[in-house]
Amino acid sequence: MDMKATTPLTNDHTPVFANESGPIKEVHAFWLAGMSCDGCSIAAVGAKNPSVEQLIHQQIPGLPKVILHHPVLAVEAGHRFMEPYYKAARGELGATYVVLYEGSVADEQIAKDTGGYFSAMGMEKLEGGGWRPYPTADMLRDLAPNAAAVIGVGTCASWGGVPAAIGNVTHAMGVMDFLGKNFRSALGLPVINIPGCAPIGDNITETITAVLMFLAGVGPLPEFDELGRPAWMFDETVHRGCPRAGFYEEGTFADEYGQKECLVELGCWGPVVQCNIARRGSIGHNGGCMNVGGICIGCTMPGFPDAFAPFYKAPPGKFISGTASRMVGSFIRPLRQISQRKGNMTNRWLKTEHIPSGWGHVDAPNLAMKAIHYFYKKIQSSGTPFHPSGSAQQRKLQASGHSAMLEAEKRSDERVQETARVDG
Ligand code: SF4
Ligand code: SF4
Repeated sequence: MDMKATTPLTNDHTPVFANESGPIKEVHAFWLAGMSCDGCSIAAVGAKNPSVEQLIHQQIPGLPKVILHHPVLAVEAGHRFMEPYYKAARGELGATYVVLYEGSVADEQIAKDTGGYFSAMGMEKLEGGGWRPYPTADMLRDLAPNAAAVIGVGTCASWGGVPAAIGNVTHAMGVMDFLGKNFRSALGLPVINIPGCAPIGDNITETITAVLMFLAGVGPLPEFDELGRPAWMFDETVHRGCPRAGFYEEGTFADEYGQKECLVELGCWGPVVQCNIARRGSIGHNGGCMNVGGICIGCTMPGFPDAFAPFYKAPPGKFISGTASRMVGSFIRPLRQISQRKGNMTNRWLKTEHIPSGWGHVDAPNLAMKAIHYFYKKIQSSGTPFHPSGSAQQRKLQASGHSAMLEAEKRSDERVQETARVDG
C-alpha cells in the first residue's frame, strides 16, 4: 500500500517502529470522552468486522491483545478504573498504548476561569492541595505525547462537530486543532481521524486494526489522506457508492420521502460528501443513510454542521446538476428501455411473437421494434467474429450434417406457432 506524501514518517521524536524493537504483544487503548453524546461508543460496540470482542480477545491472527479502558464498558470503577490513566499520564505505564478520543475538545480554561469544567473523568490533585475533576482535554494533553497513536473517533473529535457549531460557548475543537499541526505521537504519527456522526462502527475498528497491525510489525502504515482520514474509506463521495446514483444519472428524483429515486431534491449532499456508508452500510452491511431512505447531511465533513445547514433543503448546486441530469436522462432513458425490452425477450418469443406469461399481458415486438433490434444487434456484434445467427461456414456445416435436426426444428416451430394461435 502506498503511503501518501502527506503522511510523515519522521519527526522530532525520532520514531521507533514496532518491528525495530520486536513485535508488540499487548496494546492498551485509552478511550477518552470530551464534548460527546457517546454515540461513537455505541457505534464502536456495534462493529462487526472486526468486532470489539475480537480485538480484546486477540482473535485476529498477528494482532496484539487490546486492553481496552473505556468509561462505559469497563467492569472496574472508581480508582481501580482510573489508575492506568493516571499512570499513563505520569509516563509510568510501561506499556504501549493508543489514545481514542470521542467528542470535541472544549477550551477548559473558559470553564476553569469560573471554577468549573466542561467534560472530565476522574480527579486530579491540585498543586495547592485539594482535588478537582480531571478534564479530558487535560488528560489528552498528558497522554498524547507518549501514545503510539492518537485517534479522533467521530466528527466531533476529528473536526469539532456539533459542539463546535457557530454560536457555541465552549470554543470546542477537534483533537487535531487541540494538539496542533506539529503534534506527532511516539511513533511519529499525526492525529488520525475517523469522522462520522456517528462513524460507521467498522470504520472505527478497521482503522484501529490497521494501526495495530502496523504496531505489531505485521502490516504497513495504512494510507491516510491530507486530513488524517483513512484514505481507503474517505477517498470517494457517498454519491459514487449510492444505490440511487443510477436515478440521478437518468434525471429522476424523489419529491417526497419513501420514494425510490435519488433524494437530491429533498436535500441530499451526497455528490460532494466523502463517506463510505452507502457501500459499507451502518452495521453488518445493513442500513446506512440513503439505503434506508435518508438524505446525506454531510456529517463526516469538517464543515458539518454549519456548511450543510439548513438540513432538508436542496443544495444550491442541485439546480445546475439536476437540470443537466434531467436533460441527458430524458434522451438516454427511452434508448435504454428499448435495449431492456430486447433483453426481456427469449429467442423463442421473438420468433413466435407470443409471450406465454400467465402473470400479465406483454406486447410482442412490432415491426418497428424488430427493425430497431435487428440493427442494434448488427452494431452490437460488429467488429467481432460473432454472428448472431451463426457464421456462413457454421450454417453450411449444420445444413449438411444436421438436415434431420433442421427438419425437426421446422416441425417444432410449426407446433409452437400453432400453440401461440390457440393461446390467442
Ligand atoms: S440520494 Fe444523494 S447520494 Fe444518492 S444518488 Fe441521490 S444525491 Fe447521490
Ligand atoms: S451519508 Fe452523509 S449523513 Fe450519512 S453518514 Fe455519510 S456523511 Fe453522514
